[in-house]
Amino acid sequence: MRALLLAATMLAGTFATMPARAAEPAAAAQAAPAVTIPAEAGAMPAGKLGDAVVPKAYRLDLDLDPAQPRFSGHAEIDVTLAKAGRYVWMHGRDLAVKSVTARVGGKTVSGTFQQADPTGVALVTFAEPLPAGAATLAFDYDGAFNEGPSGLFRVHVDDTWYGWSQFESIDARSAFPAFDEPGFKTPFTVTITTPAGQRAVSNAPEVATETKGAKTVHRFAPTLPLPSYLVALMAGPFVGVEGAVPATPQRAAALPLRVISTKQNGASLGFALENSKSIVAHLENYFGQAFPFPKLDQITAPIMPGAMENAGADLYEDSILVLDDKASTAQKRSFGMVVSHELAHQWFGDMVSPAWWDDIWLNESFANWMGFRIGNEWRPDLNIGAGALAEGFAAMGTDALRVGRPIHEKITRNSQIDAAFDTITYGKGGHVVAMIAAFMGDTKFRDGVRGYMAKHRYGNASTADFFGAMADAAGDPRILPAMQSFTDQQGVPLVTFAPAGKGAWTVTQARYARLGTEMPAQTWGVPLCLRQGDARQCQLVVDKSATVRIAGTGPLVPNAGGTGYYRFELPAAQWNALIAQGASLPSGEAQATIDSLNASFQAGRATPAQLVAAARAFGANPDSYASDEATSLLIGLDDRGLLTPAAHEGLRRLVREVRAPRLAALGFDPRAGAHAADDPDKQARRVSLVAEMADVAEDPATDATLVKATDALLGGDAKALDSAFYGSAFRAWLKPAGLAGAKRLMELALSSEDPLLRPAALRAIGRSNNPEVAKWLVEDFSDKRLRVSEKLTGVAMVIASSKTRDYGFAYAQANLEALLGAGGGIFLTRALPQVLSGFCAADKVPAIEALRPRFANNAGALELERAIERVKSCAVLKDARAEALSAELAKVK
Ligand SMILES: [Zn+2]
Repeated sequence: MRALLLAATMLAGTFATMPARAAEPAAAAQAAPAVTIPAEAGAMPAGKLGDAVVPKAYRLDLDLDPAQPRFSGHAEIDVTLAKAGRYVWMHGRDLAVKSVTARVGGKTVSGTFQQADPTGVALVTFAEPLPAGAATLAFDYDGAFNEGPSGLFRVHVDDTWYGWSQFESIDARSAFPAFDEPGFKTPFTVTITTPAGQRAVSNAPEVATETKGAKTVHRFAPTLPLPSYLVALMAGPFVGVEGAVPATPQRAAALPLRVISTKQNGASLGFALENSKSIVAHLENYFGQAFPFPKLDQITAPIMPGAMENAGADLYEDSILVLDDKASTAQKRSFGMVVSHELAHQWFGDMVSPAWWDDIWLNESFANWMGFRIGNEWRPDLNIGAGALAEGFAAMGTDALRVGRPIHEKITRNSQIDAAFDTITYGKGGHVVAMIAAFMGDTKFRDGVRGYMAKHRYGNASTADFFGAMADAAGDPRILPAMQSFTDQQGVPLVTFAPAGKGAWTVTQARYARLGTEMPAQTWGVPLCLRQGDARQCQLVVDKSATVRIAGTGPLVPNAGGTGYYRFELPAAQWNALIAQGASLPSGEAQATIDSLNASFQAGRATPAQLVAAARAFGANPDSYASDEATSLLIGLDDRGLLTPAAHEGLRRLVREVRAPRLAALGFDPRAGAHAADDPDKQARRVSLVAEMADVAEDPATDATLVKATDALLGGDAKALDSAFYGSAFRAWLKPAGLAGAKRLMELALSSEDPLLRPAALRAIGRSNNPEVAKWLVEDFSDKRLRVSEKLTGVAMVIASSKTRDYGFAYAQANLEALLGAGGGIFLTRALPQVLSGFCAADKVPAIEALRPRFANNAGALELERAIERVKSCAVLKDARAEALSAELAKVK
């Protein structure tokens, strides 16, 4: 699984992409009386079901007509009972189960099905005890399609209904009765009945299709062993393109490949078809093994908040697969990284699956690292590799809080599972994998991965199994504890350098802390890599302090290549020398330096003058990721209200000083494809420069160019504005256009199914920072074409924007139950706390803390604690440093 993050709107972007669970319970479940659990059934399992009843095979027969609000199904599960008994604990959420039977020894025993808790733990009670040994459980049931992207969900696209499935982590149980845990891997034999002539897609190849009257029955081959969270069930009048991945040294036969989407995208699937082939071949080469399933379908859905690695049937948000050669760098980067991520999971996650959700970090951290690595191999010119480090440094911002969690943590309750899919698992986990791979050496690390794959092929494995394989491959007993010090402890190591004679430094490690925060004493096994000119030196620092030596010339670079998951602190002279190199440091080292300098300021050490110097130096770096980060902290602090009006004007002048000459040098023509001949990283840099010139510097000439192009687009000239500039153009256009403009832009959005135009227009309205527009969007506007997830995204964007934040929060407080029950589910349970992080005042804390009971025991609980700490910590920073920072920025001429 992989959520999409929108560059330059990280805070606003995160929630736009969180999985949403439409939690409108089925009528039957709603009406269900409280369940009384007989003593003989034992206590309800809050997490793992245990192994009293183990599934061996599923036969699922579903009738899916997405034009109808409900679907129906017949499910049969072959199981083995460890001992005789009347009770079976399993899963099923919001399903109306009409009949349950067990066939055992030629006899049929009837039973009853009761959902016992909101996470979908269910108790089946049989009329008489079933004997130990084999039995077949059979269920007839129906359920509701969701409107948000979880479970079986449906969307109305261009006057037609389509249905898809998204089951990770625990939503398969809302589509069929199941033993819904990753440790239970079995074959699934799927049959899907659709309205006549529609298509169906599942994990295995379709082996028989029969149309009878108004229905078509699609039969699929049995799958290889899969956990329930990887099952795919799609139905609708889809269109697609098909081909095959030619044979490779690892695979003798061609692999059937299709790209499948809704009708209006049919002409734009060729890029995804051709380029998926090359990514499969790169992955087979890395793993030294053939693609592990008999076919691959790549499917798109308009409201999928990212992508999901269903075995042989990956699902993606439209914008990831619907593109062509002329697409923006950002869209091509997203294709390369996300497709590589999901396809890496076909081996790492699907063929070898986690034993339990404790081990999900291993799946996601590894896939994240592979996504960037293989994406980079696929198209080195897109600079995809630098994006991996950007995610790692972004995760440090979250990991720097005192509240939080380690990458690898025990999960004992169903309610904890969704919370594991956060920036710690993806951003930190990916960075830590990169650091270990770099320290072990690429070949040894790859051999460790291959050994682990071979040993657990089509089975399950745990973190201990992975570490064991790595220890075998490393030939160095220190690797394992070093790796575990990062996976099993939360927090970011801070490595402080002090001179210790010529070419020598005393380094001291401690847990990084923001101003006003105390941290417990901690140490890590830090693979510390230094560079000075051409000299490079790596050593594993395991003690609180150590001496390191390096004999080179020029400034000391304390995180060579930027692959280390640590922050550093330097004496002022060394900081200044390093900042002075900002324009020429390679991307990873530049990103590491900006991160550590910003962290130093937030800890009360680096000076405002150093931040301003860094904005100027790194703003001239030719790498898009390094250049983007140059001004990010200053802009973020302004957004949170730390700057006086005079300092705000100084920041505008600084951004113009840093960005205007670069944009002038690159040139800017907003028309579609005008810069298509440029190097892709240069194209990405231009998009960011335009955004800062418009949004922050409020440069009249840039605004005028964007407004004119948007006017032409609204007037029907589709070529007037390249999709790469949609975001900044729509925001610039809305500034003078106000509410009347928002209404016009909304109509443009809702009358379009374009995978880029529609969401960009809706996001611009949500982020208008105009109180009148915000109120109209949140309270007054109603149109059934606006999807539930789009409406909720809009509300969250209003709260994430500085001038509408107070209004949005007050609205959310007054309407919390309605928002949480609107069908966004996990969307708001995580996104609402995240956007509250934008406040920077101690007096806001009680109102945020008052939300605790509403988020207790769900995926939003930790996000809420993070928001509370961020708001408090920002208030401390404001008291201590805002005045000096404002004075420094006001000086910028
Ligand atoms: Zn993933």
